[in-house]
Amino acid sequence: MTYTGVGVEIDVSTGEVQEFEIPEKLYYDYRGIIGIAYHYAEKLHFEGDPLSSENFAIFAAGILTNTRIPGATKVVAISKNPVNRTFGPAIGGGAFARDMKRAGFDLIILNGAAEKPCYILVEDGRVTVEDAMNLWGKDIVETTDYLKEKHGGSVLAIGKAGENRVPISLTLIDAIHHLGKGGLGAVLGSKNIKAIVVKGKRASEPANPQEFGKLVKEFRDRVKADPVTKRYADIGIMAAWDAWAREGYLAFKKKTVVVSREVVEEFGVRNYKGRIKKQSTGCSGCLSPCKSILEARLGDETIETKASLYLGVAYEFGVKCGVESAEMAVKCHDIANRHGIDAMLFAELYDFVATLYEEGKVFEDELGFEPSRSGEAVIKVLEMVAEGRDFGEYMGRGFEGLVEKFGEWVRKESHFIKNLEPLFDPRVSFASESFGLFTNPRGAQEGPVTITVLPGRDEEGIRRYMKRIGASDELINATFGEVFNAALYTIAVENWLWVLNGMGLCRRESIAKSLDIETVASMFSHATGIESSPEELVAAADKALTMVRKLNCREGYSRKDDTPPSRFFEPLKTWEGYKIWRDYFGRVEITPDMVEKMLSDYYAWRGWKENGCP
Ligand code: SF4
Repeated sequence: MTYTGVGVEIDVSTGEVQEFEIPEKLYYDYRGIIGIAYHYAEKLHFEGDPLSSENFAIFAAGILTNTRIPGATKVVAISKNPVNRTFGPAIGGGAFARDMKRAGFDLIILNGAAEKPCYILVEDGRVTVEDAMNLWGKDIVETTDYLKEKHGGSVLAIGKAGENRVPISLTLIDAIHHLGKGGLGAVLGSKNIKAIVVKGKRASEPANPQEFGKLVKEFRDRVKADPVTKRYADIGIMAAWDAWAREGYLAFKKKTVVVSREVVEEFGVRNYKGRIKKQSTGCSGCLSPCKSILEARLGDETIETKASLYLGVAYEFGVKCGVESAEMAVKCHDIANRHGIDAMLFAELYDFVATLYEEGKVFEDELGFEPSRSGEAVIKVLEMVAEGRDFGEYMGRGFEGLVEKFGEWVRKESHFIKNLEPLFDPRVSFASESFGLFTNPRGAQEGPVTITVLPGRDEEGIRRYMKRIGASDELINATFGEVFNAALYTIAVENWLWVLNGMGLCRRESIAKSLDIETVASMFSHATGIESSPEELVAAADKALTMVRKLNCREGYSRKDDTPPSRFFEPLKTWEGYKIWRDYFGRVEITPDMVEKMLSDYYAWRGWKENGCP
């Protein structure tokens, strides 16, 4: 079996470690680790503060991790997110999931709060709570280096932002792979947990080794032969940079205008390859390593840092914050990573404040600094956020912190969704990427990214894609009409991505492009011995999504929180003129009433009530 059937619960208040068997029935019921993890999250649900000792953190290793499937690397993390009190999951890569399985566990559940700083050591079936007094105050790179030197294995750590319980903090796996947008860093910090180390030697034994081996070989061959694999290893998702700029995703000033061609050039592929990129790197065993080690020279200073996405570095600090050079963006990224700050959210908040300042709506004396578009100012604010002091105390809480600081009037200026920043813009392409921002159970940021991330696909191609990822004919037919129904398309895509996440499979193009629902169902069946049809996988994903929605509804979330910000109904200034919100094929202008109707369709299709709750 490629699952261990074993979990471990650690109460760091008492140091008590309780190993438990995960009933086999749960693997049948949920057909993926994400539903199983939510089964436990539901049991642990509590009413209180995400930063209290009542909160929990669940780490769940995908069913197909610790096998030779390329891209089967994902770990799922669930807690009540401090930034917005949602229970939406976080997904991360690297070798953490593999090493959890090698250590003998599918689930690690952390409870309580330790009196003193500690780290959790999970090694070959044994779990201990270790003293971390010497690590508290150290940054993520220092902590990771120290623990890797001492134990080996994979290390998940928090930085100063997590220690200071800053809600826009996250954790890093092996000092590169982000995990826990929404404040997982702060949750661990509130428990006095500096890090988790996982290592072990347990091998996964598929239920039907021959059939499983054949499927894996065929899949590896497909991935190897795909030109996207080589492109990812070369420039990662920077391959999309120019198209993103042209179409309008590289917008700033509260998402009103696309940055200049000069900015796009400075932070683009040529300078990335020529001045910044040192080498490619990626998650364990991946054939298309899309991440990188960066090196930047700034005067006498040389900064070497790892990045899970250079596109993120360029977008956050180059586009949003407007720092002066690619080298300065690398420096800002390094500082954010070391402190464990969610740089994507930070940059959107920084841009928001800088724009208000440029518009004369907020002033230097109320901020305590000038929010200029320079590396120096950005670094100053990164430090304030990490330490939770001065203006950083407000900004560290996300958009709601800005409301608290400036007053209710800033809501009218806002394009944030559930206190998080939307990455994709419906005015550029209205499909799952942008509609998924409204319904994402974690809050905005990234909607499910698919073939429709940019405009230009035809109906036939989208129909074929929906079929490939497991959508029923009924859902496919309902998606196409006078207006392309982005809500129904989102259902198909969300289910598919939750199937992938539950297996631990990466959803990046270089991996997901070579997969279809039948292949994943066969992989699951031969890996686990649980005969599973594509329909059963999709139904299980739908069930898991409904579980998290229920948890969010208990926190007061409902339809009102899925309504898009009015900003998207205003034009976006791009290089080629103004873009307004139209359906994916550009045929019909989208109105607020149409979005409401799509939300109703979405809830009805999922079997939820009109108020958006199950
Ligand atoms: S494609 Fe990138 S994110 Fe996905 S498994 Fe490979 S290295 Fe990790």
